[in-house]
Amino acid sequence: MKVPLSGPDITEREKQLVLEVLDSGQLSLGSKLEAFEAKMAAYVGRRYAIACNSGTSALHMLIRAMGIGEEDEVITTPFSFVSSSNCILYERARPVFVDIDEQSFNINPELIAKHITERTKAILPVHVFGQPANMEAIMDVAQTYGLRVIEDACEAIGAFWNGKMAGSFGDAGVFAFYPNKQMTTGEGGMIVTDDPELAALCRSLRNQGRGEDGLWLSHVRLGWNYRLDELSAALGIAQLERIEQLLGRRAEVAARYLEKLADVPGVILPVIDPRAEMSWFVFVIRLQNSLRRDFLMERLLAQGIGCRPYFPPIHLQPFYQQQFGYQQGDFQVTESVSASTLAIPFFSGLTEAQIDYVCRAIHQELAVCL
Ligand SMILES: *Cc1c(COP(=O)(O)O)cnc(C)c1O
Repeated sequence: MKVPLSGPDITEREKQLVLEVLDSGQLSLGSKLEAFEAKMAAYVGRRYAIACNSGTSALHMLIRAMGIGEEDEVITTPFSFVSSSNCILYERARPVFVDIDEQSFNINPELIAKHITERTKAILPVHVFGQPANMEAIMDVAQTYGLRVIEDACEAIGAFWNGKMAGSFGDAGVFAFYPNKQMTTGEGGMIVTDDPELAALCRSLRNQGRGEDGLWLSHVRLGWNYRLDELSAALGIAQLERIEQLLGRRAEVAARYLEKLADVPGVILPVIDPRAEMSWFVFVIRLQNSLRRDFLMERLLAQGIGCRPYFPPIHLQPFYQQQFGYQQGDFQVTESVSASTLAIPFFSGLTEAQIDYVCRAIHQELAVCL
């Protein structure tokens, strides 16, 4: 692959902090975890941060901690990574999908109210590709109907909506640190919240349901091993120290793409709401139709350029179709966006030469396709 789809940004500082952990002999539940959590809470401006081993486990713990279970419904988006919906199924509750806004690709707040029933317990919006959903509108609906809000901010660390940071609106927010994310811990996730009870419960759940009295082998509830190790936490600290640099570099790459792809016939570039400040996670272009998208994808791959449809709709995943009987046509905006979008190489280390190579290839291939 000449130009990969993504890649982590690791410096000597990351290596130094990880080596310190190896030298310290304390590889789990130590000072790095506490420091990482404190720094993350301060960064997002929330009282508590609870680190864990993935974004998925963070979401799962919140569903359990909010007491959402069998027969309960959670309103969410079908245009996301499968994790934001699976976390609801883990607790035998039901994801109720609401179609997206055609511009931002985020859940359409105007469609939420009509999907609320007496079983609805929460709304789980996803800040798709690093652009925050309309959180004021979502919080309004939640308040009107007395629902909890879990913000899946896994793709949006450092993004803002109307001057307020993603992850700081809902009852809780979640971040994820898989290597393709804006910052990484290898594998890892984080819950942020201002609610002391929710925070304490999640701390217990990630550590086998241990009681808050700190007694090591006293398990007061059913929990999991969702802990984040010290090496990952150290990596997280170093990445968070550099977060402005990481986000800034990604914004530069995005600006370059926006400029160089502005005049390609048939390419629709990301549309950013004026109220949103992006934290660029991926760079996703939209083609006029699925045929063009598939053609372009094949041709770019043949030239060693990483690219991928992003996202396939959750409701049309084989497991969801089998289990719930969803069909093509159920969520039309999601399906039409899904069929026509393509993620192209995007990470902080992308060079000017690589960006130029990708943009030239897109220009040329689509000229042939016209
Ligand atoms: C990355 C991501 C997650 C969490 O993924 P993990 O691999 O479990 O860390 C959740 N939701 C969305 C939308 C994501 O992009």
